[in-house]
Amino acid sequence: MPTKARQRISGKICWQCRNLLEPNPNNQGERLCAKCTEARQPSLRNIYMYYMFSTDWYCQFLEADLKTPLPRKFRFSTSDKVVELAERGRGLKDLACRQALKQGIGIGRGGIHLYLTDHQYNKLKRC
Ligand SMILES: [Zn+2]
Repeated sequence: MPTKARQRISGKICWQCRNLLEPNPNNQGERLCAKCTEARQPSLRNIYMYYMFSTDWYCQFLEADLKTPLPRKFRFSTSDKVVELAERGRGLKDLACRQALKQGIGIGRGGIHLYLTDHQYNKLKRC
């Protein structure tokens, strides 16, 4: 078997664009890079999550125009929940995104772009 094909099947390179992937011991099958994964999900909605700490962690969401607020808001007692929310919203695509979030949490405020399914987005449209 040619090397490229073997690397694709073992998940060493993206099976679509063939870019080298970060090794992931938990996922040895065929894999897509973050860029190709996103390209294959054109229905994902880009929204912006703003978070800040006062007495607890407060999360608010804005439409892609960064102006229109979404009605749903969250309050969490720990920043772990903010990270969890960012993770579920596909906001932590790479190390830079993770570091930016960590930094924001460190200073008590920040924002992050999230990519939501219609189902997730519709939940934010309700209070
Ligand atoms: Zn790719």
